[in-house]
Amino acid sequence: MTQPAKQNVVVREVGLRDGLQSIQTILPTAQKFAWIDAAYTAGQREIEVGSFVPAKLLPQLADTAELVAHAKRLPGLIASVLVPNLKGAERAIEVGAHSMLIPMSASRAHSAANVRKTPEEMLTMIAAIRAARDAAGSKTRIEVGMSTAFGCTLQGDVPEDDVIALLQGGLDAGAECVGLADTVGYADPGQVRRLFERALRAVGDKLTCAHFHDTRGLALANTLAALDLGIRSFDASTAGIGGCPHAPGASGNASTEDVVFMLTRMGYDTGIDLDRLLALRQQIAGWLQGEQLGGAIWRAGVPKCNARSTHAV
Ligand code: ZN
Repeated sequence: MTQPAKQNVVVREVGLRDGLQSIQTILPTAQKFAWIDAAYTAGQREIEVGSFVPAKLLPQLADTAELVAHAKRLPGLIASVLVPNLKGAERAIEVGAHSMLIPMSASRAHSAANVRKTPEEMLTMIAAIRAARDAAGSKTRIEVGMSTAFGCTLQGDVPEDDVIALLQGGLDAGAECVGLADTVGYADPGQVRRLFERALRAVGDKLTCAHFHDTRGLALANTLAALDLGIRSFDASTAGIGGCPHAPGASGNASTEDVVFMLTRMGYDTGIDLDRLLALRQQIAGWLQGEQLGGAIWRAGVPKCNARSTHAV
């Protein structure tokens, strides 16, 4: 059972990457700077600012190097980037990102469609990234995000044995931590409990992060299931933007403001000021007019009878 208690839970902002990569609007760099600054002022201390993929593939994220440089000027902020390959990792190392996330699909079909590699080829690549990182004397953390861990629109079922083997494989190849991602929004809380329990037994505290999408309305329920098992880092996207090019009809990530609201209300400390976060959401909604947004708490606002976070930021 969930034990309400004051303890730190990290809500990592992924809207600038997972969110923006799957919508049409290309936000100007100045607006992304404003987003990062406002998220920081609201108390967010981990932000995935972009992805080192070729600009012709994702023009929305072409300014990732500038965003890392900007984010690194904010004291205590962990600037993370997604890197799909060695070339991307070399750029992350070069610009001094604090963390790089390598997406590895547990589904063979998704892996082929998303990165044109088999999971085994991905493991070889992770080892090459680790070697490059170490050779450069870089401190950039290497994290593997296990995509489609709960099922896949292309492959259907993804065997749990495959997920566990690849988590271990990623760590053996040189990743420092791993996370489980419900890329296409198939997970339910029972499945989250089963797979996280197994994964925690297999890799222990190297399993640090949960990444849920709200495609079928279960992102918060899944967050709670992982929280109950001791997971203390969650990816989320302000205004719930996001999706996946290989998940038709996908709505976005768990919305940052809803996750922060739930955790704060339960007595956890995210360090994030919800009023400031909701003001940022409104600003982002103005920038992304015509795009599909998500989340619930913004509609009615925060209840008046709640002991709200008074964390200084
Ligand atoms: Zn995602």
